[in-house]
Amino acid sequence: MPELPEVETTLQTLKPYLEGKLIDRVEIYTKKLRVMVPENLGHRMEGRKISRLSRRAKYMIWALEGGAETVESFSPLAIIIHLGMSGRFRVEAKDGQAFQPLKHDHMMIECGDSRIIFNDARRFGLIDDYAGESVENCHYFKHLGPEPLSDAWGLGTFFDALKSRQTSIKQMLLDQKIVVGIGNIYANEALYMAGIHPLRPAKSLEFYEVKSLMECVRAVLRAAIAQSGSTLRDYRRISGEIGGFQEHFQVYDREGKSCPACEKAQKNNPDSPHCCVQRIVQNGRSSFFCAIKQRYTRNTELPGVVTSRLA
Ligand SMILES: [Zn+2]
Repeated sequence: MPELPEVETTLQTLKPYLEGKLIDRVEIYTKKLRVMVPENLGHRMEGRKISRLSRRAKYMIWALEGGAETVESFSPLAIIIHLGMSGRFRVEAKDGQAFQPLKHDHMMIECGDSRIIFNDARRFGLIDDYAGESVENCHYFKHLGPEPLSDAWGLGTFFDALKSRQTSIKQMLLDQKIVVGIGNIYANEALYMAGIHPLRPAKSLEFYEVKSLMECVRAVLRAAIAQSGSTLRDYRRISGEIGGFQEHFQVYDREGKSCPACEKAQKNNPDSPHCCVQRIVQNGRSSFFCAIKQRYTRNTELPGVVTSRLA
């Protein structure tokens, strides 16, 4: 499923084709995605200029300027797009031939010399509009926490949100009201990097650990964006290529292997403990961790004891 780095990669790739461009023609082939695609949306988009592409959590926002003749079409309009489980875009050159949609193509937009096509086999994606003054008030965004890569995610606020919660730190990282866009892969990787066990109750984290975890979340997300995201199953970049970050997973999907830190320690000192990345299921999602580097408590001497009991 596309997470924040994959959506950001898609957004950055689409920008040159859409931003500042006039929408010549829109065809919508499917009415029912995650929600119904609004009536006449294609018609209302045509003739408008796309002023800006941005992202909130895993939603893409295309801000449109007015441009057509009717008074109605001068009102601000934003197109909200979510890739769901398998949504992806592709760009084709406009070749003078009539466009023939492929299976699972739901929307085609002609902009200048290009056709931008939204395809979603599993139909959990979303195409909707918002016509209010400030897109932040759109109901999709109202209850969302801060963006992890922005200054809006502050250390004090994050620490306060965790300090009275018995919920595991892994669950808190996935809670979109606390901070948005950190999916399962990146929560696992950030907890490993910070040396924090995924089952630790949020309130047990010391201030310095929360600080380190925030830094690790940001580092993991930035590294993933630099690698154009991760491909597990469906995600493809607009070019059709897969992302590259799955080659850099340290614990995610590496059950039974040793983690990079322990492997390095073994090379330097063969007497150092053997590592075996463990997998447990937390709230229906897999958690992968190294029981040596990510202790449940700082006093747990025997790696695996606590975790095997809880698993
Ligand atoms: Zn390890």
